[in-house]
Amino acid sequence: MEQKITIDESLSLDKKEETLLHEIIEALSGYYSLNLEHDVITTLGFGLYQVLKDNKLNF
Ligand SMILES: [Zn+2]
Repeated sequence: MEQKITIDESLSLDKKEETLLHEIIEALSGYYSLNLEHDVITTLGFGLYQVLKDNKLNF
């Protein structure tokens, strides 16, 4: 099984990174049958993005 995330190249770098996190959480929610509500995915994506960015975490 293959899943591919495609991100609009016209977005700003910040928006691309935030969108990637959102899409990863959305994919994990599906893969692990978490059935997260979309607003929860959006909140987690945004919160996680802020924490990673504010703490300059790259891994
Ligand atoms: Zn979404």
